[in-house]
Amino acid sequence: MWIESFEFFSGAVLAYMITRIPFLTFPRVKSWNEQFPPHPEPIYVDAHLIQRVLHMRLFYWLALVFAIIPLTFGWVSLAHGSAPFGFGLWTVSGWLVLSRVTGFFAGEEAPCTKQMAMRLQQTRNVSDSEDSCCAFAQPMWEVTCVRCKACGKVLLNEPRPDLGRPRSDGWIMGFVRLVISDGKPIMASDEEE
Ligand SMILES: [Zn+2]
Repeated sequence: MWIESFEFFSGAVLAYMITRIPFLTFPRVKSWNEQFPPHPEPIYVDAHLIQRVLHMRLFYWLALVFAIIPLTFGWVSLAHGSAPFGFGLWTVSGWLVLSRVTGFFAGEEAPCTKQMAMRLQQTRNVSDSEDSCCAFAQPMWEVTCVRCKACGKVLLNEPRPDLGRPRSDGWIMGFVRLVISDGKPIMASDEEE
């Protein structure tokens, strides 16, 4: 009995890892992060950052494409190999597809969205215009909000999701945290004053 449980568990863990490959690995390559300060420092809101938000959104949805791998292997394994292993693969990848698709229709937000990129662009535009908070407006995305570095005014009340920078909490803790949070911001946004 415990062999079947072990096989099921292995399949489940493997499926979980495969579907997180795009989000956990691609954006963390060193050359991809040279224009950003190291995690968890605030990031300057510019075209690079907005591009990154859109990339993270892409990686989030790419998980659906990667789910095809464990679904296929799971099917083969169910038919010809170890049934518990195949079932493990199927359960996790099937759950991922279902929860993302239903979440999408229910209006549940992904960690990074196009609307988020647009709000950041808007903040950037205001800072460049005559309506800026101060003469040397420098919008920086901190953990809980976008704040002007020069005058300290909160420009956008938006907690920062994981942006794919290598984690400061180390490879293992960073990995665990990402797997649990799925990249969503861990801190809630500051309450409006
Ligand atoms: Zn300012």
